Amino acid sequence: MPPLIILTYKNATLILMKPLLKLTHWCLDLIFPKYCLGCGLEGSYLCPACFSSIPVCLSTNCFICGRRSPSGLACDNCRHKERSSLNGIMVAADWKNLLLRQIIYEYKYRFVKELSIPLSQLMISFLQTDMLLNCPPDKLILVPVPLHGRRFAWRGFNQAELLAQKISAHFDIPLAKNILVRSRHTLPQRTAKTQVARAANIKNAFTLSKNHSSLSSLRAPQKRDDVKSRARKAQWATGLYWGDHIALREAIPRNTTQNLNSLKNKTVILVDDICTTGLTFEDCARALKSLSPKEIWGLVIARG
Ligand SMILES: [Zn+2]
Ligand SMILES: [Zn+2]
Repeated sequence: MPPLIILTYKNATLILMKPLLKLTHWCLDLIFPKYCLGCGLEGSYLCPACFSSIPVCLSTNCFICGRRSPSGLACDNCRHKERSSLNGIMVAADWKNLLLRQIIYEYKYRFVKELSIPLSQLMISFLQTDMLLNCPPDKLILVPVPLHGRRFAWRGFNQAELLAQKISAHFDIPLAKNILVRSRHTLPQRTAKTQVARAANIKNAFTLSKNHSSLSSLRAPQKRDDVKSRARKAQWATGLYWGDHIALREAIPRNTTQNLNSLKNKTVILVDDICTTGLTFEDCARALKSLSPKEIWGLVIARG
């Protein structure tokens, strides 16, 4: 028996809007064609060949002293010396890669939201090779670094949240996007010249949200294996890119509101686009400590 569809105002609007949006995107693509940031090929901001030329980090270092360390864990020496609330910072790719820098720039400052797809894919590929994810997904929680309201109004989206949403959908890890708030407007960390100025700029910028019980997870739908999708997979040898593109665009929110008054036995992964000194993560971790998580990690695309 075919499923019964009850037509409401909400789903009727969605049904009508989808083709209209597709048509608008098609017209915009026609007027303003997209060119690959790497090679100039027309069709997208990043062609599969250029995307696959960006290597994912395979060696990880202590985020304080830079010595080799699994997953970016703070080494024993640093853990004794520094009183860090972070267990480590995971860095997905290398900031020295000029194409990657350009993609991050276009994403953050020219508001090309769709670049969140290849950027999050780099983080997903990194996590797939990393042992932290041996941990069951329900023991992990993704927390995007929040933006101050003023910055959010300027950019129109939180770049860290878009990345975290896609990682959540891929691994089925719960996402707590309203657990932290940026209660103080700060200057971008890169504008502060010294370590002391950076520390002062970000100190106590984050607090726990008054209503920190909003936990959601995004479920990537089953990948279609019809003729069209098989043809697409064959066309794009790097299948990963466009295959996931489709799955992520159609990610379905899962209602899993629960009380987050405690994060006991949970490993928090703070998500941001880039980090420099790690002080932003440190301040987020300081705010989250009162919820007693088991571990707190940072995850970024690159460390600039
Ligand atoms: Zn290209
Ligand atoms: Zn160290």
